Amino acid sequence: MKILVVNCGSSSIKYKLFDVTQRKVLASGLAERIGEPDSILTHKHMTVGEEKKQVEKNRFADHLEGLQRIVDLLLDPENGTVSSRSEISAVGHRVVHGGDTFHQPTLIDDQVIADIEACIPLAPLHNPANLMGIQVARKLFPNALQVAVFDTAFHQTLPVEAHLYAIPFELHQKYKIRRYGFHGTSHAFVSEEVAVHLKRPLTELNLITLHLGNGASMAAVAGGRCIDTTMGLTPLAGLVMGTRSGDIDPSVLLFLAKHENLSAEDLDDLLNKRSGLQGLCGVNDMREVIAKAEAGDQQAETAMAVFSYRIKQYIGAYTASLGRVDALVFTAGIGENAPLVRERACQGLEGLGIEIDRQKNRQRAEGIMEVSTVGSRVKVLVVPTNEELRIAQETLRAAEKKTG
Ligand code: AMP
Repeated sequence: MKILVVNCGSSSIKYKLFDVTQRKVLASGLAERIGEPDSILTHKHMTVGEEKKQVEKNRFADHLEGLQRIVDLLLDPENGTVSSRSEISAVGHRVVHGGDTFHQPTLIDDQVIADIEACIPLAPLHNPANLMGIQVARKLFPNALQVAVFDTAFHQTLPVEAHLYAIPFELHQKYKIRRYGFHGTSHAFVSEEVAVHLKRPLTELNLITLHLGNGASMAAVAGGRCIDTTMGLTPLAGLVMGTRSGDIDPSVLLFLAKHENLSAEDLDDLLNKRSGLQGLCGVNDMREVIAKAEAGDQQAETAMAVFSYRIKQYIGAYTASLGRVDALVFTAGIGENAPLVRERACQGLEGLGIEIDRQKNRQRAEGIMEVSTVGSRVKVLVVPTNEELRIAQETLRAAEKKTG
């Protein structure tokens, strides 16, 4: 079964074609700078076990032209990826915000499109781009099933005490202001991977999942259901990130608005693009932060300390939320590749039954790694995430439900 996964940004289309039953990527790529004179398309496809890459400079006036060219490349007889459009039976779309309307992957029809449009105020940059991808894919694959997979859906199980902010209740009702959470496909994917790895049903496991990438979030997952997560109404809340502040005292905004004469847009820019690791030490890439800290840069060392301490605090908080924790699950760019961050985030948590084996933690291996000591009550695991594969799997599930 071949499924195309599409992730549209305002000027980009990221895509992957899967043979989902075999968990195999047949082709993938990225069209960038759509709408500009110098659009670029990078396309990769597999031929007899070997990856081939081609880069084209083109002019894509819009997403329709971009996706049309991607389809041409997939159909190119020399690449041999698909022989006809009808071989692609479904298209899975990443949609950032499903509000409180969408709790699961959903087959797309006109009503669903209207409901995703209604969530635009909650994600004004992302949802319009995601919708563009949906419209274009419907045109180019009129016979394929189209499925929307939401970043927020996995967190819709949060109980009221975890999702409601203590502001006047009528504002929650009027604007749907509440904690939504993001990175849901990643938290869900690694949770299922852990259950398979431990050979235990997911319904019996209590997990703390840590998606530490350029954007970073954690989730408390009880028996496969998310009960709390660090991101909120938007992806700005919670952990310290590459350029985002994460949690701060809300009064800081009022203070800065007053003393620096900042507008709502200025504050948005400050907290989303100039804060986090970038704000603390001048670089947002964790590899550079670690290199600078190791070279003796005090600001980088402080940034590492603030970053790791915030994670540690949430491990404590989610241990309380879950009552019993079976595993901590590190994933994404930093979670998978930065042993130092894992070590510092878990430092001093022996009292919670969390003990990292420093030697195992520093080894590199493909696939899932266990980096806790033999005696650690809570397992510490490193699990590679694969959000696109998860979208393809969810698309398949939704398609199978439809066809019975
Ligand atoms: P992601 O958003 O999942 O692609 O993750 C991006 C983040 O992962 C960036 O901050 C990178 O610096 C970080 N990262 C990737 N590889 C490494 C590594 N080997 N060591 C430390 N951080 C890494």
